[in-house]
Amino acid sequence: MITIDGFRTAKICSNGHMITDSAETINDNSNFCKTCGASIISKCPHCQSRIHGIYHVEHVVCISSEEAPVPAYCHNCGKPYPWTEATLQTAEHIIDMLDELTPDQKKQLVDFIPDIIVETPKSRYAALVYAKFLDGLQGLAVDCFKDWLKKNVFPTLLVLLNMQKQ
Ligand SMILES: [Zn+2]
Ligand SMILES: [Zn+2]
Repeated sequence: MITIDGFRTAKICSNGHMITDSAETINDNSNFCKTCGASIISKCPHCQSRIHGIYHVEHVVCISSEEAPVPAYCHNCGKPYPWTEATLQTAEHIIDMLDELTPDQKKQLVDFIPDIIVETPKSRYAALVYAKFLDGLQGLAVDCFKDWLKKNVFPTLLVLLNMQKQ
């Protein structure tokens, strides 16, 4: 007997809200996200690969109630999904408003954004650079940027950034 293992398809809105992590079993034909009104996709806009939802193993009943995580990048072509793209762009815009930083410092922060939203070998170093550059800075853009970090940096890095969630 052939068993079919694999990922179910996820439906996610373009702002990154998970609609369902198992489109094959949950019949939800919504076209727009009920949380934010953005359109819903189930394929990578660049290569048309299905977005991975929960990992399904045939004949194993999954009793975990945990939802599959929203993936940041396409597993097939490596391009950022629309919500990741939006996150990266927002960070770039805010960094650009940090007037006390030199253009070179801004560029370093921008270059490291991909390493602080998902874990990479450079993440820890990136977090130290962020902590160092942001230390002592004040103002609206800095507060705004810190809010962005709290929402988008993966949790273990928040400790390094001295920004643990309360
Ligand atoms: Zn949404
Ligand atoms: Zn793709």
